[in-house]
Amino acid sequence: MSSRATLVPVFVLVLAFSERASALTSYVHVTVKALQNNGGYCPTTRNCTGSYYKQAQFGVNRPLRDLRIYLKSGNTTIGQGVTNVGGQTLIAFFWPPPDPLNISILIKFEEGNGRWAVRNLSGGVVTRQPAVGMLPYTPDSWAPTMRTVTLGTAAVPDEHANLFDVVTKAWSNGLSEDATLQSLFTGVSIRGFTSYTGGDCPTSCAMPESKIIKISEIHRYSMIPMHEMGHIANYLSHRGGAFSYGGCYTYPSECSGFPGSASGVWYPDSPEWGSASFEEGLATFAAVAGYYARSAPVPYFCDYASAPCQAGTFDVEISPTCGSGSAGMPINVTRYFWDLYDTVNDSETIEREMHRVLGVLYSFPDGTANGAEDEPRVPLDPDEDGRSLFDYRKYDDVPPAVWSANCSPSPGD
Ligand SMILES: [Zn+2]
Repeated sequence: MSSRATLVPVFVLVLAFSERASALTSYVHVTVKALQNNGGYCPTTRNCTGSYYKQAQFGVNRPLRDLRIYLKSGNTTIGQGVTNVGGQTLIAFFWPPPDPLNISILIKFEEGNGRWAVRNLSGGVVTRQPAVGMLPYTPDSWAPTMRTVTLGTAAVPDEHANLFDVVTKAWSNGLSEDATLQSLFTGVSIRGFTSYTGGDCPTSCAMPESKIIKISEIHRYSMIPMHEMGHIANYLSHRGGAFSYGGCYTYPSECSGFPGSASGVWYPDSPEWGSASFEEGLATFAAVAGYYARSAPVPYFCDYASAPCQAGTFDVEISPTCGSGSAGMPINVTRYFWDLYDTVNDSETIEREMHRVLGVLYSFPDGTANGAEDEPRVPLDPDEDGRSLFDYRKYDDVPPAVWSANCSPSPGD
């Protein structure tokens, strides 16, 4: 009996080892591209130094980065990956797959670290699932099977793939440079597309408390989704506090009961309430930083779809002509932030990195007092204009010369 007792465990060990050795791994290298149809690119007629998105990249298949994809065999997930800057990922999967004739690549429009997902209006993550046929057995990771998935065509671009692409640019080129946002910017839901004639965010909006962004059908293929990402970033600087920007726009006719309702429409070059021009101008700064590096001499913002920003839209680096109401124009707030951030010397030599520009937002004191982070909660007072650029300047330690280059807001609170 004693010899049999020792034989049994030895036999089990050998069996276990041989099973492990016979488990096979195969590799597939997947590239995901989409027909690039987003607007706001830098046209060949303009100085595109520092542009992350030039005309040559428009209308052609471009890689989709930071995208989560799954390898499916029938209904079974057999592998997964996140695409790199080249839209590529190497996926290992057990061989043989359970349903070898039915292999597909499930693309979920989710950012690889869970920072955001592109969803439909009811909240479901948007997916694509192209079949890729049979995959051969390729056990060497350095010689995998190659597969490329291309979403959309010039005739029918993929609107959700383009939405994913544009918000990825906002994050990877700009907002991600702020370490605090690195930890806070998660779980954002980006939903498309609302009707321009409906009652639900007809001109796009961000609902920061719930981290939901809704994009209008009129803002498909535009820079606007990056602007909405900027609203989320600003909200997160309130450290979860009682953010209460009320959407009072046109100064002074809207929101007579300030802070009032959340209705109304703003324009980059129309005078808005100080709190509105600050909120919208800062959000637009985030959008510009998604498309242009700090070295760009001619960074632009617009909401044109599938086209470059047109003449008459917004060069963010120029020093504007200042007249009545200029201080309340959101685009001039954007220009102020851009001057803090850029490395181009147009009457100022300040070169602050993104974390320093946004970091000032965290230095607002708590509360609803004048100059505090939730100032819009104070009752209407003609001398108080919400959380504004004027308030920001109290904490940013920047000389007044930079203020006036961008139509410094007149003294107020
Ligand atoms: Zn906005």
